[in-house]
Amino acid sequence: MPVLVMKFGGTSVANLDRIKRAAKRVGVEVAKGYDVIVIVSAMSGKTNELVGWVNETSPLFDAREYDAVVSSGENVTAGLMALTLQEMDVPARSWQGWQVPVMTTSAHSSARIEDIPPENIMAKFGEGMRVAVVAGFQGISPEGRITTLGRGGSDTTAVAFAAAFGAERCDIYTDVDGVYTTDPRICSKARKLEKIAFEEMLELASLGAKVLQTRSVELAMRYKVKLRVLSSFEEQTDEAGTLVCDEEEIMESNVVAGVAYSRDEAKMTLISVADRPGIASIIFGCLSDAGVNVDMIVQNISEEGRTDMTYSLPTDQVKRAEQALAELKDSGGLNFADLDVDMDVAKVSVVGIGMRSQSGVAAKMFKVLSDDGVNIKVITTSEIKISVLIDRKYMELAVQALHDAFELEKTG
Ligand code: ADP
Ligand code: ASP
Ligand code: MG
Repeated sequence: MPVLVMKFGGTSVANLDRIKRAAKRVGVEVAKGYDVIVIVSAMSGKTNELVGWVNETSPLFDAREYDAVVSSGENVTAGLMALTLQEMDVPARSWQGWQVPVMTTSAHSSARIEDIPPENIMAKFGEGMRVAVVAGFQGISPEGRITTLGRGGSDTTAVAFAAAFGAERCDIYTDVDGVYTTDPRICSKARKLEKIAFEEMLELASLGAKVLQTRSVELAMRYKVKLRVLSSFEEQTDEAGTLVCDEEEIMESNVVAGVAYSRDEAKMTLISVADRPGIASIIFGCLSDAGVNVDMIVQNISEEGRTDMTYSLPTDQVKRAEQALAELKDSGGLNFADLDVDMDVAKVSVVGIGMRSQSGVAAKMFKVLSDDGVNIKVITTSEIKISVLIDRKYMELAVQALHDAFELEKTG
């Protein structure tokens, strides 16, 4: 029988009623003749609570134990979903990541899926089981330890299962009815897209649009998974939601496809480091070894052989970065006068494949921000995106102003 993957995010399984509603949706697909793999997230708020407990217990935690704790939310919903389906007389059972097994790298808290052997679940389908409910977000390392795939990782579990089982489609059920030109929660004029290109979705996701985890889009692109985002709160047709697909399948063509933001950014400046060959390698090598993901980087013009180095990083990695740099300084590996940390910044980005062939987008973006009195602290660009770091208090204003200026409420 054809296989369908259906993923339900945190708000879609937030309580027993919602789990029931999701299970009914699964029942509809089973009745159509699909064998269904359901991927579930933890109930909404649960993972945050678990992360909070870990941080409170151990600020510079052992990532293996972090994974042991934060993966547990999904175990609860997987079991409850299987029980709900059984109550509906749908033959179902739950699987934790290690039972499948979802084999991952050992990069704890941000592991990558390496392999999902389909045999165990296929054998159960062969015996008449109709739904495999799999706990998203988790796997097992080569060392036999539980791993997690990074926040939002259940999306990636879903796409990886769709690829491994040759599923007809991977449906991501969430609390909005598709991918929008920007987050509909902060911009009332945001427009739902019928289709979005993999590359644009990839950029939007990596720049903060959390509707899909970045890695899930990468996998869907690589393995040609038919990926759809839709609401778990509405009755659905086969055409509902947003299809993430190849560029060639899309007719409309706005130069800018969407605006993304990331609230949880911090800016760090190493003040007065020696401006000599190898210094960037020392700084960013140290940060990378400490597991810090640096994004935007600027180096000032040097004065008397010394310069300032500024970069952005996620707020929850600031402590780790400070500690690693302090140790480097103490060991004589790097000399700097001070470390300035700004926790009140946000990143706002515009994304569009059309930017490859049309100039002037950056100029327009900077003009819009300056007209609104928003000071830009750091800028980065690539072929299809422009990102700026600004004071967090201006973030929503900037998103709305850019959405207006690029007329994203209109179809191109
Ligand atoms: P889930 O718990 O189902 O995984 P998430 O909270 O991870 O849901 O992702 C859905 C949320 O993503 C939406 O509620 C919305 O606020 C946010 N979001 C950000 N950018 C976009 C966008 N461009 N289109 C749709 N949703 C977006
Ligand atoms: N529960 C995990 C998180 O909140 C994974 C997910 O929901 O995708 O990050
Ligand atoms: Mg999510």
